[in-house]
Amino acid sequence: MAVPRIVLLGPPASGKGTQGRLLANKGGLAYFSTGRQLRRELKAGTELGRRADPYLAAGCYVPDELALALALTWVSGVDGGWVLDGFPRTLPQAQDLDAFLAPQEAALRALILEVPKDELELRVGERRECSVCPWTGTRSGADPSGRCPSCGAELVQRSDDDLGNFRMRFKAFDELTAPVAGYYETSDRLRRVSGVGSPEEVFRRIQSVFHLD
Ligand code: ADP
Repeated sequence: MAVPRIVLLGPPASGKGTQGRLLANKGGLAYFSTGRQLRRELKAGTELGRRADPYLAAGCYVPDELALALALTWVSGVDGGWVLDGFPRTLPQAQDLDAFLAPQEAALRALILEVPKDELELRVGERRECSVCPWTGTRSGADPSGRCPSCGAELVQRSDDDLGNFRMRFKAFDELTAPVAGYYETSDRLRRVSGVGSPEEVFRRIQSVFHLD
């Protein structure tokens, strides 16, 4: 069987991080989120973080060459299968990833999580992530102390999770990432899953699509 290589598409707050990690754990795959890595670079004050800063603050996508460098550097270092969360987000990124993977690009699968916009807006206000470990979830899903259920560190709200920024990111998704779904659909590599429901329900749908149960 081909080595699993899965890319996660989906609007902001559709659950890519949560489902991506569940999928990676279940399939024994490596996991990487370009968005999370960009926020880390920003926090660490690296050159890449400084370049990404104005785009993240404005709710825009970072330039393709920046996202590409981040994703392909990570992919090159992985032995075996992987899940990429939030990459590719534009057609040029998808085409460059295919060129990089050739001749194995036909085995790549894209998963899109579909969630209506009004539900996404509700989720954005609730979303929290751990300041230390990879945990992400909702304020109500964490324990009452407001600490990370996984490692006990402080939970924080992402700086880009306000409604105005969300709406900009949603617009970018609609204009730039929806065509990426079309690109994978044309080559029969796209799988659509409803992202509405509890994380467990959504993951059951994903498992059945990828025959992991
Ligand atoms: P969300 O899906 O909620 O927007 P992410 O953590 O996946 O959250 O991404 C946060 C931000 O990081 C994006 O809005 C975008 O500015 C930037 N980003 C992440 N991946 C890419 C990418 N492949 N291309 C361009 N920008 C990206």
